[in-house]
Amino acid sequence: MHEFSIARSIVDVATAEAERVGARRVKRLNCRIGEMCQVDGRLISEAFDIACRGTICEDAELQIETTHMHAVCPQCWRRFAVHNWNWTCPHCGVDGEKLDGGDELELVSIEAEVDDDYSGDPEGLGAERTRGARESPAF
Ligand SMILES: [Zn+2]
Repeated sequence: MHEFSIARSIVDVATAEAERVGARRVKRLNCRIGEMCQVDGRLISEAFDIACRGTICEDAELQIETTHMHAVCPQCWRRFAVHNWNWTCPHCGVDGEKLDGGDELELVSIEAEVDDDYSGDPEGLGAERTRGARESPAF
Protein backbone atom coordinates (compact mmCIF):
# COMPACT_ATOMS: atom_id res chain seq x y z
CA MET A 1 0.00 0.00 0.00
CA HIS A 2 1.72 3.08 -1.35
CA GLU A 3 0.08 5.62 0.98
CA PHE A 4 0.71 3.55 4.06
CA SER A 5 4.44 3.25 3.44
CA ILE A 6 4.64 7.00 2.87
CA ALA A 7 2.74 7.64 6.09
CA ARG A 8 5.08 5.29 7.92
CA SER A 9 8.09 7.16 6.56
CA ILE A 10 6.61 10.48 7.67
CA VAL A 11 6.08 9.10 11.18
CA ASP A 12 9.59 7.57 11.27
CA VAL A 13 11.31 10.77 10.24
CA ALA A 14 9.19 12.93 12.57
CA THR A 15 9.77 10.55 15.47
CA ALA A 16 13.53 10.59 14.95
CA GLU A 17 13.52 14.36 14.76
CA ALA A 18 11.28 14.74 17.84
CA GLU A 19 13.53 12.41 19.82
CA ARG A 20 16.58 14.31 18.71
CA VAL A 21 15.25 17.58 20.15
CA GLY A 22 13.89 15.86 23.25
CA ALA A 23 10.25 16.51 22.44
CA ARG A 24 7.48 15.05 24.56
CA ARG A 25 4.79 15.08 21.92
CA VAL A 26 4.48 16.02 18.26
CA LYS A 27 1.57 18.37 17.65
CA ARG A 28 1.75 18.98 13.96
CA LEU A 29 3.59 17.72 10.88
CA ASN A 30 3.91 19.78 7.73
CA CYS A 31 4.50 17.80 4.55
CA ARG A 32 4.89 18.69 0.94
CA ILE A 33 3.78 16.13 -1.62
CA GLY A 34 4.06 16.63 -5.34
CA GLU A 35 1.16 16.02 -7.67
CA MET A 36 3.27 13.61 -9.70
CA CYS A 37 3.62 11.24 -6.76
CA GLN A 38 -0.04 10.47 -7.39
CA VAL A 39 -0.90 9.88 -3.80
CA ASP A 40 -4.28 10.52 -2.32
CA GLY A 41 -4.04 13.07 0.50
CA ARG A 42 -7.09 11.63 2.20
CA LEU A 43 -5.61 8.12 2.16
CA ILE A 44 -2.34 9.48 3.53
CA SER A 45 -4.24 11.06 6.43
CA GLU A 46 -6.04 7.79 7.13
CA ALA A 47 -2.82 5.80 6.92
CA PHE A 48 -1.12 8.36 9.14
CA ASP A 49 -3.74 7.88 11.85
CA ILE A 50 -2.81 4.19 11.93
CA ALA A 51 0.94 4.63 11.51
CA CYS A 52 1.26 7.14 14.34
CA ARG A 53 -0.44 4.96 16.96
CA GLY A 54 1.81 4.28 19.92
CA THR A 55 4.42 6.76 18.72
CA ILE A 56 5.32 10.25 19.84
CA CYS A 57 3.32 11.47 16.84
CA GLU A 58 0.04 10.04 18.07
CA ASP A 59 -2.81 12.57 17.75
CA ALA A 60 -0.61 14.95 15.79
CA GLU A 61 -2.20 16.94 13.01
CA LEU A 62 -0.94 16.16 9.51
CA GLN A 63 -0.80 19.08 7.11
CA ILE A 64 -0.23 18.26 3.47
CA GLU A 65 0.66 20.84 0.89
CA THR A 66 0.30 19.66 -2.69
CA THR A 67 2.90 20.98 -5.07
CA HIS A 68 2.56 21.19 -8.83
CA MET A 69 5.08 20.57 -11.52
CA HIS A 70 6.24 23.41 -13.66
CA ALA A 71 6.66 23.63 -17.38
CA VAL A 72 8.29 26.12 -19.66
CA CYS A 73 6.77 27.28 -22.93
CA PRO A 74 9.06 26.74 -25.95
CA GLN A 75 7.58 29.79 -27.64
CA CYS A 76 7.40 32.58 -25.06
CA TRP A 77 9.69 30.95 -22.44
CA ARG A 78 7.21 31.68 -19.69
CA ARG A 79 7.15 29.34 -16.75
CA PHE A 80 3.79 28.00 -15.60
CA ALA A 81 2.33 25.44 -13.22
CA VAL A 82 0.85 22.31 -14.75
CA HIS A 83 -2.60 21.53 -13.35
CA ASN A 84 -4.36 18.24 -14.10
CA TRP A 85 -1.80 17.29 -16.74
CA ASN A 86 -2.64 20.33 -18.80
CA TRP A 87 0.61 21.28 -20.50
CA THR A 88 -0.82 24.10 -22.57
CA CYS A 89 0.88 27.45 -22.15
CA PRO A 90 -1.71 29.89 -20.74
CA HIS A 91 -0.24 32.67 -22.86
CA CYS A 92 0.15 31.23 -26.35
CA GLY A 93 -1.56 27.83 -26.24
CA VAL A 94 1.35 25.64 -27.27
CA ASP A 95 2.48 22.66 -25.23
CA GLY A 96 5.13 23.37 -22.64
CA GLU A 97 8.08 21.23 -21.69
CA LYS A 98 8.63 19.76 -18.28
CA LEU A 99 10.81 21.90 -16.10
CA ASP A 100 10.77 20.81 -12.48
CA GLY A 101 8.70 20.24 -9.37
CA GLY A 102 5.72 18.08 -8.65
CA ASP A 103 7.73 15.13 -7.40
CA GLU A 104 8.43 16.40 -3.90
CA LEU A 105 7.83 14.03 -1.04
CA GLU A 106 9.14 15.61 2.08
CA LEU A 107 8.54 16.43 5.67
CA VAL A 108 9.02 20.18 5.83
CA SER A 109 8.73 20.78 9.55
CA ILE A 110 7.26 19.49 12.75
CA GLU A 111 5.79 21.32 15.71
CA ALA A 112 6.43 19.59 18.98
CA GLU A 113 5.99 20.08 22.67
CA VAL A 114 9.33 20.04 24.39
CA ASP A 115 9.43 18.97 28.00
CA ASP A 116 10.40 21.94 30.17
CA ASP A 117 11.82 19.62 32.78
CA TYR A 118 14.24 18.02 30.36
CA SER A 119 17.70 18.55 31.80
CA GLY A 120 19.71 16.64 29.22
CA ASP A 121 20.64 13.76 31.49
CA PRO A 122 23.16 11.80 29.37
CA GLU A 123 22.92 8.57 31.40
CA GLY A 124 19.16 8.32 31.62
CA LEU A 125 16.62 9.41 29.08
CA GLY A 126 19.18 11.11 26.89
CA ALA A 127 20.85 7.82 26.01
CA GLU A 128 17.51 6.25 25.18
CA ARG A 129 16.72 9.09 22.87
CA THR A 130 19.98 8.82 20.99
CA ARG A 131 19.55 5.12 20.41
CA GLY A 132 16.17 5.54 18.76
CA ALA A 133 17.07 8.54 16.64
CA ARG A 134 18.74 8.46 13.30
CA GLU A 135 19.73 11.05 10.82
CA SER A 136 17.75 10.76 7.65
CA PRO A 137 16.90 13.54 5.26
CA ALA A 138 13.22 13.49 4.33
CA PHE A 139 12.25 9.98 3.22
ZN1 LIG B 1 3.83 30.53 -24.24
